[in-house]
Amino acid sequence: MIVEMKKGSTQQEVDEVVQRAKSLDMRVQLNLGTDKTVVAILGANTGKLPTETFAVLPGVESVSRIMKPYKLASREFQPEDSIFSVNGVEIGGNRIVIMAGPCAVESEDQLMKTVKEVKESGASIIRGGAYKPRSSPFNFQGLEKRGLELLEMARERFDIPVVTEVVDPHDVELVASYTDIMQVGARNMQNFALLTEVGKSRRPVLLKRGLSSTVKEWLTAADYILAEGNEKVMLCERGIRTFEDSIRFSLDITSVPVVKKASHLPLFVDPSHASGNYSFVPAVARAAIAAGADGLLIEVHYNPKEALVDGPQALTPSDFGRLMKELEAIAKAIGRSL
Ligand code: PEP
Ligand code: MN
Repeated sequence: MIVEMKKGSTQQEVDEVVQRAKSLDMRVQLNLGTDKTVVAILGANTGKLPTETFAVLPGVESVSRIMKPYKLASREFQPEDSIFSVNGVEIGGNRIVIMAGPCAVESEDQLMKTVKEVKESGASIIRGGAYKPRSSPFNFQGLEKRGLELLEMARERFDIPVVTEVVDPHDVELVASYTDIMQVGARNMQNFALLTEVGKSRRPVLLKRGLSSTVKEWLTAADYILAEGNEKVMLCERGIRTFEDSIRFSLDITSVPVVKKASHLPLFVDPSHASGNYSFVPAVARAAIAAGADGLLIEVHYNPKEALVDGPQALTPSDFGRLMKELEAIAKAIGRSL
């Protein structure tokens, strides 16, 4: 249930709404918007509560029900875009943000060479997996803590924020102490214990869409993080399973306008995991920006042939540099910058 307060309502009036909700064993989340406060009343039984429970209170403008399964991620709760900063990089604003780097951190040499190049080409956040969720237990699983240390080294040396994946709820504190953004991977989109843990952390989170998840399920998963009070949530479309087998996953480009309409959260697109092949990545990346994505997550390796993970889809630094120029032109054409 959404309680919209009147413009200029007092703190006391907001408190009264909150107290009424709490006395009914409901959870409450406040959105202190620029000109008015919105109170989300959350709980399994809100459907049975008459709207008058809150409509009669002083300072209340209107009370409505959110009929969608996701609440806090919805535009009903927050009509305006979520814009926040990750160590000086504005996310969700006019400027499109490019996160780039290797699939996995493999060695100091590999990471530093790649980061140097992607930063020079204009990436504003670097990526690299230290814990890799691999389909087979016999494949390279990542350098784990050593990988985090190398990411921190790159972060300091090149003065650039880092995004890396966390796969185990028990590792959240450790990963959060090394990185600026925690990634929840596609295979963990509905790992509710992990979502709750990253929600409790105050580190920004990049939540990838599950391989076979609907947009509704994805946004409802985001609610798990938001419900813990972590408001810095970014979404990432990375392709879904379909019958098509000429590519790794089918990038649901339509989800870009769909999610932007339904949710206030910043939306990224990962053209690399959808394509599975470096030669398709630029076209898909260009399409994502044209469709309205707030940023991209792109895999780049200084020498893809030597990559331990996802080499076939990695761009070389020079391919990445060329793509950045093309993206700049597309951003400009739609009134944004890169
Ligand atoms: C990744 O970004 O390295 C990754 C494993 O992606 P996904 O979870 O989308 O498969
Ligand atoms: Mn990868």
